[in-house]
Amino acid sequence: NLPLSELDPEIQAVLDGELARQRGTLEMIASENFVPRAVLEAQGSVLTNKYAEGYPGRRYYGGCEQVDIAENLAIARAKSLFGAEHANVQPHSGATANAAVLHALINKGDKILGLELAHGGHLTHGMKINFSGRLYDVAAYGVDAETYRIDMDQVREKALAERPDVIIGGWSAYPRHLDFAAFRSIADEVGAKLWVDMAHFAGLVAAGLHPSPVPYADVVSSTVHKTIGGPRSGFILSKEEYAKKIDSAVFPGQQGGPLMHVIAAKAVSFKVAASEGFRDRQERTLRGAQIIADRLAQPDVSAAGVSVLTGGTDVHLVLVDLRHSDLDGQQAEDLLHTVGITVNRNAVPFDPRPPRVTSGLRIGTPALATRGFGDAEFTEVAEIIATALREGTGTDAEALRARVDTLTEAFPLYPGLQQ
Ligand code: PLP
Repeated sequence: NLPLSELDPEIQAVLDGELARQRGTLEMIASENFVPRAVLEAQGSVLTNKYAEGYPGRRYYGGCEQVDIAENLAIARAKSLFGAEHANVQPHSGATANAAVLHALINKGDKILGLELAHGGHLTHGMKINFSGRLYDVAAYGVDAETYRIDMDQVREKALAERPDVIIGGWSAYPRHLDFAAFRSIADEVGAKLWVDMAHFAGLVAAGLHPSPVPYADVVSSTVHKTIGGPRSGFILSKEEYAKKIDSAVFPGQQGGPLMHVIAAKAVSFKVAASEGFRDRQERTLRGAQIIADRLAQPDVSAAGVSVLTGGTDVHLVLVDLRHSDLDGQQAEDLLHTVGITVNRNAVPFDPRPPRVTSGLRIGTPALATRGFGDAEFTEVAEIIATALREGTGTDAEALRARVDTLTEAFPLYPGLQQ
């Protein structure tokens, strides 16, 4: 029973290095966050030892009395947080949750209609080499070529032409609200099921700061680790009529033993998500994204060929369009990395560059809001990003890095934590 530092110093060094990296940089990957210490504790606990195939009260293993309590708490809290009739909290990840949703709703060869991957959709919504593209017949809608927004008339036309069995609402890179009522009415018109994947914006929904898909969709899937800021994992909400199908699609359909340490951590994060402090954090997340979008739309930045897709944001991320800039997505990501800001390059719709390079950036505010940032700090972050994107290869990276250091030092991450 040696401590990690003695048993495996190489892995201990990775943990130490990663904690230092997270502390010393500005984390702006839109799908990332910092979990509370209580979540680290639950995830690093003895619950990792337990096999619990099945569901609370109906397990295929003995000794599940404690983990049943954790899973029942996670289920009850998820249902109450989102006003859902049924919750399954066992999916190991967003992708396995999505596999279970399609497994529950349709059969091999049936047709799905989701947002084009290149326009901000997710791999599990029908990408060719993903399970979704291999098992199902895939059709896609895109964003409008002028507004870069999803136009519900175009979605309806596509749905009428394609007659899908499932319509998917949800995205990995799209900066605006979706019209869930319109999705519902299109699904009804063509006789399709409606599945919403709220992985990105679930935290905003929980805080009441984003329309909820739950009243409209037959099934809603999500991750827990993006805006919710919980453990890396997934969950599924549904109407009662799909409860049995969803549960058996997750286990035994897609998974074996659930990760009980992660399920306990999900329970903790759903508790946190029902708090006032969480709502305040989501408000700062939204305002931060708006501050960055506004700054990047100023003339000094536009003069460098940089613009903001759709002209702004309703959510926790900003999509930057670099098609007319000297920087491509890869160069812009690398440049921000040198000043201590971590973002990811992202294809923009109708991107002329290959997916490994891209002509865009996705910049998110959830992790910095969790770190405590408010309007003043996001204004400074926006200024640093605007300067780098405007100056390009001529950027004084050292000067910007010093400003990043001032911010990271003023907002210590996990104070006192040693891994
Ligand atoms: N769904 C959406 C919309 C996502 O953006 C993501 C993550 O990027 C996922 C599902 C998959 O989540 P995971 O990475 O946990 O499999």
